[in-house]
Amino acid sequence: MKAVVLPSVGSQLEVVERPDPVANGTEEIIQVSACGVCHSDLHVVDGDYGDQTPIILGHEVVGEHNKLGPVMVFAPWGCGACPECAKGQQQICSNATEAGLVVDGGYAEQLVVPHRDYLAPLGDLDPVKVAPLACGGLTAYRAVCHGLPEARQKGARAMVIGAGGLGQYAIRYLRLLSDAEVTVVDLDANKRQQALARGAHHALGPDQVEGKYDFIVDFVGAGPTLTTGRDHICKGGRVVVVGLFGGDVPFGFGKVPHEAIFQTSVWGSPQQMVELLDLAGREDILVPVETLPLEQAQQAHDRLRAGQVDARLVLTI
Ligand SMILES: [Zn+2]
Ligand SMILES: [Zn+2]
Repeated sequence: MKAVVLPSVGSQLEVVERPDPVANGTEEIIQVSACGVCHSDLHVVDGDYGDQTPIILGHEVVGEHNKLGPVMVFAPWGCGACPECAKGQQQICSNATEAGLVVDGGYAEQLVVPHRDYLAPLGDLDPVKVAPLACGGLTAYRAVCHGLPEARQKGARAMVIGAGGLGQYAIRYLRLLSDAEVTVVDLDANKRQQALARGAHHALGPDQVEGKYDFIVDFVGAGPTLTTGRDHICKGGRVVVVGLFGGDVPFGFGKVPHEAIFQTSVWGSPQQMVELLDLAGREDILVPVETLPLEQAQQAHDRLRAGQVDARLVLTI
């Protein structure tokens, strides 16, 4: 099969021929039809998650299964033996082997998946358009689900910090799943404009934020954005941090509003992927995608790194 390999940390991607994979035990093989390109892929290239090279990248994978038809791959594969996996929370398994981040992923014609439970049927959905839901869309979905108890309160106000790809998904989810008034905060005027087009009620620059909010989701995770979350969450409200920028704020009595909840959110569960595909079948939640052939994976990375993309990039195979 044809595959795109990262031979070593920091190197260029290479298009190579690999032997076709063979399924053992519970494993399943899918014929990959499309794979989204995610910022995490660049982090793997940079060695930010350790060195798993040589590795085939790609964790937003859709493809064809010989019995299930078109499927989406749940990529954060759990160990299957820990308490988190037992609770169906494979995305926070300590021994997870995420496809395309730790083990070979979907920048290839075929992918071996450990178990059929990690395949979600796509039904009539367009595989190329939905591919980014597997990571970007699902991560935003889980984050918003954490905040629905707060966002669904009468007269609730919700804030989305960061109006990049994940933030744009979150706006739609909040509008579809709650009646909250949605305010988006971003430095970039173009992204604020996109946010309003996606259904946000207000779009503000970081220094324009006022008042208290019941639910705040932070897709940046830097010190200043966490501070905005801390300063503008109401008592008993909830701040969910998704962005991996690495900031922090002090926590304890007197440091945060009484009974406010601060939590992180990681990717999504297998069950939530099924829910999200169901939502995608009923509502218009997708963001624009731009396609490139698999062989141009390096160009896709170059453009993502340079910020030269207005849509999610998807490699087609
Ligand atoms: Zn586990
Ligand atoms: Zn990703």
